[in-house]
Amino acid sequence: MKAVVFEEHGGVDVLQYKDVAEPSLGPNDVLIKVKASGCNYNDIWARRGLPGMRVLLPHISGSDAAGEVVGVGSEVADIKAGDEVLVYPGLSCRTCQFCANGQDTFCRQYKIWGFQTGPLDGGQAEFAKVPAFNIVPKPQGLAWEEAGSLALVLLTAWRMLVGRARIQAGDLVLIWGAAGGLGTMAIQICRVFGARPIAVASSAEKLEFCSKLGAEHLINRKKQDVSEEIRKITDRRGVDVVFEHVGNATWAQSVASLKWGGTLVTCGATSGFEAPTDLRFLWNKQMNFLGSHMGNKTDLLEGLRWMESGHIKPVVSHAFPLRETGTAQTLMENNEVMGKIALVPEA
Ligand SMILES: [Zn+2]
Repeated sequence: MKAVVFEEHGGVDVLQYKDVAEPSLGPNDVLIKVKASGCNYNDIWARRGLPGMRVLLPHISGSDAAGEVVGVGSEVADIKAGDEVLVYPGLSCRTCQFCANGQDTFCRQYKIWGFQTGPLDGGQAEFAKVPAFNIVPKPQGLAWEEAGSLALVLLTAWRMLVGRARIQAGDLVLIWGAAGGLGTMAIQICRVFGARPIAVASSAEKLEFCSKLGAEHLINRKKQDVSEEIRKITDRRGVDVVFEHVGNATWAQSVASLKWGGTLVTCGATSGFEAPTDLRFLWNKQMNFLGSHMGNKTDLLEGLRWMESGHIKPVVSHAFPLRETGTAQTLMENNEVMGKIALVPEA
């Protein structure tokens, strides 16, 4: 099968579009013919190489995929060839206390499929194999490009806002990177719960797009001071919740924008992990700083319910042939994407 593979770390030039062996099925596995996969920042981290994390080489990235089932292992009962499915990208042991309780992300063996797995193994290929537990029916009415690129951002944003920050009707929520994959989900999840999203993005075009998705206030971070704008919008009170995934470049403004007793929830740090905090603000203002990592299968299923009803829409700005994965990653690295990029294997 054709796949996008890298055998060493580096720039997009290490990505090779080439033939590799099809994955072989274990008794509890499902093989899908990939109709579309998604791009995530994880793909770029893995390709560049991350200090403290060993990427198993050769590596196929891709933590999102949707397609048609073409094979099932001998122990798989409820899934059959021809089923249209997408992948829940969290792999865990399925037997520990946390897994038994639906808290997949607390499992000591939790791994992100296509990122921490390998050698090979991710969704950016013609065929992909995952355990039957990780198969989810594709919501009707979604295009393959949509179904194949939504899971990771939907479940991550769902867990951050619903499971961790516990957003409520009326909450003002500051959303960094609001036009990106996570941000577009965050805006729409806020609306489902009656919360009031404040979108931060880097251009008027991106903010216009956020407005159409339901953002109530728009801040252009290139032209405006974010915490100053937040003071105006909230009449100096500060926001109830900050949705963080940028880290070093935004942390100080995130903290400055929070109300007394407000909640900051973060799932990543694309601009750097060092985020100095003056602890006096943390205790005096009695803020809540919450970490969030991926999401449980139930987070994805809950989010998909709202997608099926049309309250949350997948947002795909580009679809590229699988062989052009490098172009897709460059667009992401240059911050030129709104929503998601889908990758489509050749028919
Ligand atoms: Zn477990």
